[in-house]
Amino acid sequence: MRFDFSAEDEAFRREVRSFFAGHLPAQMARRFAIGAHPPDRADVRRFQSLLHERGWGAPHWPLEWGGTDWSPLRKHLFMEELYNADGLDYGWQGLHMVAPVLIAFGSEAQKRRFLPPMLSGKEFWAQGFSEPGAGSDLASLKTQAVLEGDEWIVNGQKIWTSDAAMSEWGFFLVRTDPSVKPQRGISFLLIPMDAPGITIRPIVSIEGGTGLNEVFLENVRVPRENIVGEEGMGWTYAKYLLEKERTSSAFLYFNKRELEKARQLAGLRTSGAVPLIETPAFAARLARVEVEVLALEYSVLRVLSGENSGRNLNAIVSALKLRGSALQQRVTDLQLDALGLRALREWRHGEGEVIGDDEAVRWPPLVPGRTAAALIARASTIYGGSQEVQKNIIAKLAFGL
Ligand SMILES: Cc1cc2nc3c(=O)[nH]c(=O)nc-3n(C[C@H](O)[C@H](O)[C@H](O)COP(=O)(O)OP(=O)(O)OC[C@H]3O[C@@H](n4cnc5c(N)ncnc54)[C@H](O)[C@@H]3O)c2cc1C
Repeated sequence: MRFDFSAEDEAFRREVRSFFAGHLPAQMARRFAIGAHPPDRADVRRFQSLLHERGWGAPHWPLEWGGTDWSPLRKHLFMEELYNADGLDYGWQGLHMVAPVLIAFGSEAQKRRFLPPMLSGKEFWAQGFSEPGAGSDLASLKTQAVLEGDEWIVNGQKIWTSDAAMSEWGFFLVRTDPSVKPQRGISFLLIPMDAPGITIRPIVSIEGGTGLNEVFLENVRVPRENIVGEEGMGWTYAKYLLEKERTSSAFLYFNKRELEKARQLAGLRTSGAVPLIETPAFAARLARVEVEVLALEYSVLRVLSGENSGRNLNAIVSALKLRGSALQQRVTDLQLDALGLRALREWRHGEGEVIGDDEAVRWPPLVPGRTAAALIARASTIYGGSQEVQKNIIAKLAFGL
């Protein structure tokens, strides 16, 4: 297996880099680098439309719907450059989750209606799966949809719905047949988030953001044709979607970029002190995480190059999610340790403009948002399937336990 990039690949990388250098407004990149959750709604839409205008709105989609025919390695280079430019990797629920389901199982009318505005950044999507009593055990969900004439009447509650308040649409798992075994009676329904009967209540998360929500559905009327695929097949579509989600859940690009920031922070000289990076204990910790991020990168590249063919891909992507999310926490913890007490002040000052006025150094713009990022990273080992759930999957699929 060789990972040397060809001259064409390198030219492609330069093309992507110069696109971001020329088109991503500096202030927007700065806001993205701070990493507020949720990010500014106007920024998110503008960035998606910038990518769309260049033909890069959804590189992983099929060409006929506006995707690219890039090789997996090119998609990898693109993502690396996007992250290095502090571009925004957002709109996941739409571009990476519901879109593949629509492309695989949706009607032509649904594809034509929903894919173009998703690609251009006009419409954003929320994922309404989890409920207060149904997270890891998703099949026990209770939100019910009953057919009345040409409409589904939906009642129930969802929780942890990311971006519900900034999204035009939501894809929901609802129970349409309570009489069969739990996995069989679930359907996949598209619901406008401003439909009468929907109440969205924000949940303030640990870093102070309001991207998460509770969504209450009370006699919400949804046209019959908003069901995706066949009635009762929602569980199959959801599994397809979650597999797609996990494939990209190694957090590789985030981990690489943030590790570099950790290194820079640890190299700064505070008044009279030795830079942290010169202390053996910290240098050893940094080196260890660096080696693990490198191992993660090679594992991702092996998947991309198809080297794992013949092995169970779902088990592999679960292993990547397990590793990548744990590393996300270790990388951001390194940043906080490098910031020391400044981490608290940086948090208090929000955008971090005033950090270090009384310090011997002026802390560079890579500092803001690190504390919030470290706090948000605590959730990465929960969403998209918790660590224990990933281990169960690996045990079952890779080892037959
Ligand atoms: C930041 C964030 C964003 C999210 N966004 C969305 C979203 O947009 N849409 C959406 O639908 N959901 C979303 N979720 C919900 C997420 O999918 C669930 O939190 C997750 O599936 C875990 O479910 P739970 O919270 O109910 O925990 P539980 O399932 O109750 O798990 C509690 C603990 O028990 C462990 N556990 C559970 N089952 C087993 C088992 N069989 N074996 C061993 N251990 C087990 C878990 O690992 C965990 O440690 C989000 C969550 C977070 C934190």
